[in-house]
Amino acid sequence: MKKYSLVLALFWLGLLAFPQDKPGQRGLQPIIDMHMHTGLPDEIPAGTPALCRPDPCEGDGGATVDDTRLMEKTLEAMDRYNIKKGFLSGIDISTVQAWSEAAPGRFIASPFILDPNSTTPGRLREAYRTGELQGMGEIGTQLMGLSPTDPALEPYFALAEELNVPVLIHTLGIGPYMPHFRSASGSPLLLENILARHPKLRLYVENAGFPFRDEMIAVMYQYPQLYVDVSTITWVIPRTAFYDYLEALIRAGLGKRIMFGSDQMVWPEKISEAVEAIQQAPFLTEAQKRDIFYNNAVRFLGIDGESASQVTSVHD
Ligand SMILES: [Zn+2]
Repeated sequence: MKKYSLVLALFWLGLLAFPQDKPGQRGLQPIIDMHMHTGLPDEIPAGTPALCRPDPCEGDGGATVDDTRLMEKTLEAMDRYNIKKGFLSGIDISTVQAWSEAAPGRFIASPFILDPNSTTPGRLREAYRTGELQGMGEIGTQLMGLSPTDPALEPYFALAEELNVPVLIHTLGIGPYMPHFRSASGSPLLLENILARHPKLRLYVENAGFPFRDEMIAVMYQYPQLYVDVSTITWVIPRTAFYDYLEALIRAGLGKRIMFGSDQMVWPEKISEAVEAIQQAPFLTEAQKRDIFYNNAVRFLGIDGESASQVTSVHD
Protein backbone atom coordinates (compact mmCIF):
# COMPACT_ATOMS: atom_id res chain seq x y z
CA MET A 1 0.00 0.00 0.00
CA LYS A 2 2.81 2.37 0.92
CA LYS A 3 4.64 1.46 -2.27
CA TYR A 4 1.57 2.28 -4.38
CA SER A 5 1.22 5.61 -2.65
CA LEU A 6 4.86 6.39 -3.33
CA VAL A 7 4.63 5.50 -7.01
CA LEU A 8 1.46 7.55 -7.42
CA ALA A 9 2.86 10.48 -5.45
CA LEU A 10 5.96 10.51 -7.65
CA PHE A 11 3.76 10.39 -10.72
CA TRP A 12 1.56 13.30 -9.62
CA LEU A 13 4.61 15.32 -8.66
CA GLY A 14 5.78 14.63 -12.20
CA LEU A 15 2.81 16.60 -13.45
CA LEU A 16 4.56 19.72 -12.20
CA ALA A 17 7.64 19.02 -14.26
CA PHE A 18 6.19 20.04 -17.58
CA PRO A 19 8.33 20.01 -20.67
CA GLN A 20 9.68 23.38 -21.71
CA ASP A 21 7.57 25.50 -24.04
CA LYS A 22 8.55 25.48 -27.68
CA PRO A 23 9.00 28.90 -29.32
CA GLY A 24 5.68 28.79 -31.24
CA GLN A 25 3.77 28.19 -28.01
CA ARG A 26 4.47 31.53 -26.32
CA GLY A 27 1.25 33.11 -25.18
CA LEU A 28 -0.77 29.93 -25.60
CA GLN A 29 -2.39 28.85 -22.39
CA PRO A 30 -1.48 25.37 -21.21
CA ILE A 31 -3.95 22.58 -21.79
CA ILE A 32 -4.49 19.16 -20.28
CA ASP A 33 -6.40 16.82 -22.61
CA MET A 34 -8.31 14.43 -20.37
CA HIS A 35 -9.50 12.19 -23.17
CA MET A 36 -7.22 10.68 -25.79
CA HIS A 37 -7.07 7.24 -27.36
CA THR A 38 -4.46 5.14 -29.12
CA GLY A 39 -7.16 4.02 -31.57
CA LEU A 40 -10.66 2.59 -31.82
CA PRO A 41 -11.97 -0.64 -30.25
CA ASP A 42 -12.65 -1.93 -33.78
CA GLU A 43 -10.42 -1.62 -36.83
CA ILE A 44 -11.65 0.64 -39.61
CA PRO A 45 -10.17 1.34 -43.06
CA ALA A 46 -7.61 4.16 -43.36
CA GLY A 47 -9.21 7.38 -44.51
CA THR A 48 -12.64 6.65 -43.02
CA PRO A 49 -14.34 10.00 -42.32
CA ALA A 50 -14.78 11.03 -38.70
CA LEU A 51 -17.90 10.10 -36.78
CA CYS A 52 -20.75 12.57 -36.77
CA ARG A 53 -24.21 12.85 -35.24
CA PRO A 54 -27.10 13.01 -35.88
CA ASP A 55 -27.48 11.11 -39.12
CA PRO A 56 -27.84 12.02 -41.90
CA CYS A 57 -24.56 13.90 -41.61
CA GLU A 58 -21.14 13.79 -43.21
CA GLY A 59 -17.97 13.40 -41.18
CA ASP A 60 -14.85 15.13 -42.40
CA GLY A 61 -11.17 14.21 -42.29
CA GLY A 62 -9.83 10.72 -42.75
CA ALA A 63 -8.80 8.10 -40.18
CA THR A 64 -5.09 7.58 -39.46
CA VAL A 65 -4.91 3.93 -38.51
CA ASP A 66 -1.16 3.37 -38.46
CA ASP A 67 -0.15 3.36 -34.77
CA THR A 68 3.10 5.25 -35.20
CA ARG A 69 1.70 7.85 -37.57
CA LEU A 70 -1.28 8.38 -35.26
CA MET A 71 1.04 8.94 -32.33
CA GLU A 72 3.20 11.37 -34.31
CA LYS A 73 0.19 13.38 -35.47
CA THR A 74 -1.20 13.42 -31.93
CA LEU A 75 2.08 14.70 -30.50
CA GLU A 76 2.31 17.33 -33.26
CA ALA A 77 -1.15 18.60 -32.31
CA MET A 78 -0.21 18.54 -28.61
CA ASP A 79 2.87 20.67 -29.33
CA ARG A 80 0.93 23.09 -31.54
CA TYR A 81 -1.74 23.73 -28.89
CA ASN A 82 0.51 23.59 -25.84
CA ILE A 83 -1.19 20.44 -24.56
CA LYS A 84 1.04 19.46 -21.66
CA LYS A 85 -0.56 16.16 -20.79
CA GLY A 86 -3.02 13.69 -22.24
CA PHE A 87 -5.05 11.04 -20.43
CA LEU A 88 -4.31 8.21 -22.86
CA SER A 89 -6.68 5.29 -23.07
CA GLY A 90 -6.08 2.16 -25.13
CA ILE A 91 -7.35 -1.41 -25.34
CA ASP A 92 -3.86 -2.65 -26.15
CA ILE A 93 -1.72 -1.70 -23.17
CA SER A 94 1.49 -2.29 -25.10
CA THR A 95 0.49 0.52 -27.50
CA VAL A 96 -0.27 2.83 -24.56
CA GLN A 97 3.16 1.95 -23.18
CA ALA A 98 4.84 2.61 -26.54
CA TRP A 99 3.32 6.12 -26.68
CA SER A 100 4.31 6.81 -23.08
CA GLU A 101 7.88 5.72 -23.76
CA ALA A 102 8.07 7.76 -26.96
CA ALA A 103 6.99 10.92 -25.13
CA PRO A 104 8.01 10.62 -21.47
CA GLY A 105 5.85 12.65 -19.12
CA ARG A 106 3.24 13.52 -21.73
CA PHE A 107 0.66 10.82 -21.07
CA ILE A 108 -1.37 9.44 -18.20
CA ALA A 109 -1.38 5.80 -19.29
CA SER A 110 -4.70 4.09 -18.86
CA PRO A 111 -6.46 0.86 -19.92
CA PHE A 112 -9.63 1.07 -22.02
CA ILE A 113 -12.04 -1.35 -20.31
CA LEU A 114 -14.62 -2.50 -22.84
CA ASP A 115 -15.22 -5.86 -21.22
CA PRO A 116 -14.68 -6.15 -17.45
CA ASN A 117 -13.42 -9.69 -17.97
CA SER A 118 -10.67 -8.66 -20.40
CA THR A 119 -8.40 -7.88 -17.46
CA THR A 120 -8.63 -8.29 -13.70
CA PRO A 121 -8.37 -5.84 -10.80
CA GLY A 122 -5.34 -7.86 -9.65
CA ARG A 123 -3.52 -7.31 -12.93
CA LEU A 124 -4.29 -3.60 -12.84
CA ARG A 125 -3.16 -3.35 -9.21
CA GLU A 126 0.20 -4.68 -10.28
CA ALA A 127 0.41 -2.21 -13.20
CA TYR A 128 -0.33 0.71 -10.83
CA ARG A 129 2.25 -0.58 -8.37
CA THR A 130 4.97 -0.66 -11.00
CA GLY A 131 3.92 2.71 -12.44
CA GLU A 132 3.11 1.19 -15.85
CA LEU A 133 -0.41 2.66 -15.60
CA GLN A 134 -1.64 5.78 -13.82
CA GLY A 135 -5.30 6.09 -14.83
CA MET A 136 -8.33 3.83 -15.33
CA GLY A 137 -10.64 3.92 -18.32
CA GLU A 138 -12.25 4.88 -20.30
CA ILE A 139 -14.63 2.35 -18.86
CA GLY A 140 -16.63 1.76 -22.05
CA THR A 141 -18.79 -1.15 -20.95
CA GLN A 142 -21.93 0.76 -21.98
CA LEU A 143 -20.86 0.01 -25.56
CA MET A 144 -21.31 -3.69 -24.74
CA GLY A 145 -24.69 -3.14 -23.07
CA LEU A 146 -23.44 -3.10 -19.46
CA SER A 147 -24.68 -0.47 -17.05
CA PRO A 148 -22.10 1.13 -14.75
CA THR A 149 -23.93 -0.58 -11.89
CA ASP A 150 -23.04 -4.03 -13.24
CA PRO A 151 -21.46 -6.00 -10.37
CA ALA A 152 -18.48 -6.90 -12.58
CA LEU A 153 -17.30 -3.28 -12.40
CA GLU A 154 -17.52 -2.90 -8.63
CA PRO A 155 -14.01 -4.32 -7.90
CA TYR A 156 -12.53 -1.84 -10.40
CA PHE A 157 -14.16 1.15 -8.69
CA ALA A 158 -13.02 -0.17 -5.31
CA LEU A 159 -9.44 -0.54 -6.60
CA ALA A 160 -9.39 2.96 -8.10
CA GLU A 161 -10.71 4.46 -4.87
CA GLU A 162 -8.16 2.56 -2.77
CA LEU A 163 -5.22 3.61 -4.97
CA ASN A 164 -6.53 7.13 -5.70
CA VAL A 165 -6.49 6.53 -9.46
CA PRO A 166 -8.55 8.85 -11.72
CA VAL A 167 -11.31 7.05 -13.63
CA LEU A 168 -12.92 8.03 -16.95
CA ILE A 169 -16.31 6.50 -17.76
CA HIS A 170 -18.58 6.49 -20.80
CA THR A 171 -22.00 7.12 -19.24
CA LEU A 172 -24.12 9.14 -21.64
CA GLY A 173 -26.83 8.92 -24.25
CA ILE A 174 -24.73 8.50 -27.38
CA GLY A 175 -21.94 6.25 -28.57
CA PRO A 176 -20.77 4.25 -31.55
CA TYR A 177 -23.32 2.22 -33.48
CA MET A 178 -22.76 -1.11 -31.76
CA PRO A 179 -25.41 -3.81 -31.46
CA HIS A 180 -25.49 -3.91 -27.66
CA PHE A 181 -25.13 -0.17 -26.98
CA ARG A 182 -28.10 1.20 -25.03
CA SER A 183 -28.74 4.89 -24.39
CA ALA A 184 -30.73 3.92 -21.29
CA SER A 185 -27.56 2.46 -19.74
CA GLY A 186 -26.00 5.91 -20.00
CA SER A 187 -28.07 7.90 -17.53
CA PRO A 188 -25.73 9.70 -15.13
CA LEU A 189 -28.17 8.79 -12.34
CA LEU A 190 -26.79 5.25 -12.62
CA LEU A 191 -23.54 6.58 -11.13
CA GLU A 192 -25.24 7.60 -7.92
CA ASN A 193 -24.87 4.35 -5.97
CA ILE A 194 -21.24 4.05 -7.08
CA LEU A 195 -20.45 7.57 -5.88
CA ALA A 196 -22.28 6.98 -2.60
CA ARG A 197 -20.39 3.73 -2.05
CA HIS A 198 -17.02 5.20 -3.02
CA PRO A 199 -16.93 8.79 -1.74
CA LYS A 200 -13.21 9.16 -2.49
CA LEU A 201 -13.42 7.82 -6.04
CA ARG A 202 -12.06 10.36 -8.57
CA LEU A 203 -14.54 9.77 -11.35
CA TYR A 204 -15.21 11.84 -14.47
CA VAL A 205 -17.84 11.40 -17.14
CA GLU A 206 -17.01 11.80 -20.80
CA ASN A 207 -19.02 14.14 -23.02
CA ALA A 208 -20.37 15.63 -19.80
CA GLY A 209 -23.10 12.98 -19.90
CA PHE A 210 -24.64 14.44 -23.09
CA PRO A 211 -27.55 14.91 -23.52
CA PHE A 212 -28.70 14.05 -19.98
CA ARG A 213 -28.33 17.63 -18.80
CA ASP A 214 -30.63 17.61 -15.78
CA GLU A 215 -29.46 14.21 -14.54
CA MET A 216 -25.83 15.33 -14.91
CA ILE A 217 -26.47 18.53 -12.98
CA ALA A 218 -28.23 16.57 -10.24
CA VAL A 219 -25.36 14.14 -9.61
CA MET A 220 -22.72 16.88 -9.91
CA TYR A 221 -24.53 19.01 -7.33
CA GLN A 222 -24.94 16.06 -5.01
CA TYR A 223 -21.48 14.47 -5.41
CA PRO A 224 -18.74 17.10 -5.37
CA GLN A 225 -16.04 14.60 -6.35
CA LEU A 226 -17.64 14.04 -9.78
CA TYR A 227 -16.13 15.89 -12.75
CA VAL A 228 -16.86 15.77 -16.49
CA ASP A 229 -14.94 16.27 -19.72
CA VAL A 230 -16.25 17.78 -22.95
CA SER A 231 -14.52 15.41 -25.40
CA THR A 232 -16.41 14.19 -28.46
CA ILE A 233 -19.33 16.62 -28.28
CA THR A 234 -16.89 19.41 -29.18
CA TRP A 235 -16.88 18.00 -32.73
CA VAL A 236 -19.24 15.02 -33.22
CA ILE A 237 -22.52 16.91 -32.80
CA PRO A 238 -23.53 20.29 -34.26
CA ARG A 239 -21.64 23.15 -32.61
CA THR A 240 -24.98 24.74 -31.65
CA ALA A 241 -25.97 21.63 -29.68
CA PHE A 242 -22.59 21.57 -27.91
CA TYR A 243 -22.82 25.23 -26.96
CA ASP A 244 -26.40 24.88 -25.69
CA TYR A 245 -25.32 21.99 -23.50
CA LEU A 246 -22.08 23.51 -22.24
CA GLU A 247 -23.72 26.85 -21.54
CA ALA A 248 -26.41 25.11 -19.49
CA LEU A 249 -23.76 23.49 -17.28
CA ILE A 250 -21.89 26.78 -16.96
CA ARG A 251 -25.09 28.66 -16.08
CA ALA A 252 -25.78 25.97 -13.49
CA GLY A 253 -22.52 27.02 -11.84
CA LEU A 254 -20.45 23.96 -12.77
CA GLY A 255 -17.61 25.76 -14.57
CA LYS A 256 -15.06 24.53 -12.02
CA ARG A 257 -15.83 20.85 -12.71
CA ILE A 258 -15.68 20.71 -16.51
CA MET A 259 -12.41 19.58 -18.13
CA PHE A 260 -11.12 19.73 -21.67
CA GLY A 261 -10.88 16.51 -23.68
CA SER A 262 -10.61 15.85 -27.41
CA ASP A 263 -11.48 12.13 -27.66
CA GLN A 264 -9.42 12.08 -30.82
CA MET A 265 -9.49 8.28 -31.44
CA VAL A 266 -8.09 7.94 -35.02
CA TRP A 267 -8.79 11.50 -36.15
CA PRO A 268 -6.00 13.58 -34.57
CA GLU A 269 -7.10 16.65 -36.54
CA LYS A 270 -10.11 16.70 -34.21
CA ILE A 271 -7.83 17.92 -31.42
CA SER A 272 -7.72 21.34 -33.08
CA GLU A 273 -11.48 21.36 -33.57
CA ALA A 274 -11.98 20.56 -29.89
CA VAL A 275 -9.59 23.31 -28.76
CA GLU A 276 -11.23 25.84 -31.06
CA ALA A 277 -14.73 24.90 -29.85
CA ILE A 278 -13.73 26.08 -26.37
CA GLN A 279 -11.67 29.06 -27.56
CA GLN A 280 -14.57 30.34 -29.69
CA ALA A 281 -17.40 29.78 -27.19
CA PRO A 282 -18.98 33.24 -26.98
CA PHE A 283 -20.45 32.76 -23.50
CA LEU A 284 -17.19 31.68 -21.78
CA THR A 285 -15.02 34.23 -20.01
CA GLU A 286 -11.23 33.95 -20.36
CA ALA A 287 -11.10 32.68 -16.78
CA GLN A 288 -13.67 29.98 -17.52
CA LYS A 289 -11.70 28.87 -20.58
CA ARG A 290 -8.54 28.58 -18.50
CA ASP A 291 -10.44 26.51 -15.95
CA ILE A 292 -11.76 24.14 -18.62
CA PHE A 293 -8.47 23.85 -20.47
CA TYR A 294 -6.25 23.41 -17.45
CA ASN A 295 -7.06 24.46 -13.92
CA ASN A 296 -9.94 22.04 -13.36
CA ALA A 297 -7.88 19.06 -14.52
CA VAL A 298 -5.00 20.11 -12.28
CA ARG A 299 -7.39 20.16 -9.31
CA PHE A 300 -9.03 16.88 -10.30
CA LEU A 301 -5.67 15.17 -10.72
CA GLY A 302 -4.70 16.22 -7.23
CA ILE A 303 -2.23 19.09 -7.61
CA ASP A 304 -3.01 21.88 -5.16
CA GLY A 305 -4.40 25.15 -6.45
CA GLU A 306 -1.35 27.22 -5.59
CA SER A 307 1.01 25.02 -7.60
CA ALA A 308 -1.48 25.07 -10.44
CA SER A 309 -1.56 28.86 -10.61
CA GLN A 310 2.23 29.01 -10.43
CA VAL A 311 2.52 26.61 -13.33
CA THR A 312 -0.13 28.52 -15.26
CA SER A 313 1.45 31.93 -14.68
CA VAL A 314 4.68 30.78 -16.30
CA HIS A 315 2.80 30.77 -19.59
CA ASP A 316 0.91 34.10 -19.17
ZN1 LIG B 1 -13.29 8.01 -25.58
